[in-house]
Amino acid sequence: MIFNQIFDAINIGLVILDRDLKVQKWNRWMEVHSGITEEKIIGSPIFETFPNLNNPKFQRSCKSVFSFGNFGFFSQKLHHYLFPFKSTSYFESTFEYMQQNCVMGPLRDENNFIQNLFIYIQDVTEVAVYEHKLVELNLKDGLTGIFNRRYFEVKLREEFGRCKRYGGELSLVMFDIDFFKKVNDGYGHQCGDFVLKSVSSRISSIIRNVDYLFRYGGEEFCCMLPETKFDGAMQAAERFRNAVMEMENNFNQAIIKITISLGVAGLNDEVGSAEVFIQKADEALYRAKREGRNRVMPMS
Ligand code: GH3
Ligand code: MG
Ligand code: MG
Repeated sequence: MIFNQIFDAINIGLVILDRDLKVQKWNRWMEVHSGITEEKIIGSPIFETFPNLNNPKFQRSCKSVFSFGNFGFFSQKLHHYLFPFKSTSYFESTFEYMQQNCVMGPLRDENNFIQNLFIYIQDVTEVAVYEHKLVELNLKDGLTGIFNRRYFEVKLREEFGRCKRYGGELSLVMFDIDFFKKVNDGYGHQCGDFVLKSVSSRISSIIRNVDYLFRYGGEEFCCMLPETKFDGAMQAAERFRNAVMEMENNFNQAIIKITISLGVAGLNDEVGSAEVFIQKADEALYRAKREGRNRVMPMS
């Protein structure tokens, strides 16, 4: 009786299954979050109500509990959740489903025989959301929402190392908005910010899923193109140039047209370090500026 009250009062989900994986206990927390009463679910196989649990990892864990008395862990980092309960709080925007850390283990009878297993479910959505936000803050630029310079350095070293070790292609497209000072001076800093956001989102929309766009500096960007040869990167750069040139940036009824200059570098045997790689793209970008802007220049 007392145990039942505790069972229903605690702020975690508790489920007990028998050897046929039929539900024997379903506490109040489970009722609230699933919308299914204990009365309704008791005696029925768990897979009937939660078909997503009918997977090898879950089945293996159950077997291991009953055969060896082992414990099974389902961490949020790996699995996100066992029971798909809709997020109810304002955290909804980050995760559709409640993020859960779950543990399963044996329940023995007086003869030490494992008759049942328990699963407890802990709601860790809040922690997961903060973690997610921290990672974002660390990797992303606050104004444009694209990756920041810090992440560029990390990612470049990673990709550069991978290509040098295992082979593979890698290219960089560096670009800088032409006469951006004129935008700020002529229409205000807020308009400048608006243009930076527009350019970021336009380029993000035309790159492949595997490509990365970084804000390298004020109005300078870098696009990293893994598995892309130099020629392909030149074509991509030309597409970026055209896309930006065609944009109609509408800010407070004014249409602000801009262009970008681009420098392209592809990984080859002469590029001995990540620093040299950036330098090659940067030099090409500045040649594009010198030669009149609104153009793509290859590395020398
Ligand atoms: P160029 O064609 O040679 O690139 O000329 P430019 O005017 O674009 O070049 P410059 O690098 O001299 O000027 C860049 C300007 O970008 C200066 C700086 O005030 C502005 N800027 C840098 N970061 C931001 C930002 O976050 N928002 C706004 N609005 N402006 C920024
Ligand atoms: Mg500029
Ligand atoms: Mg600049």
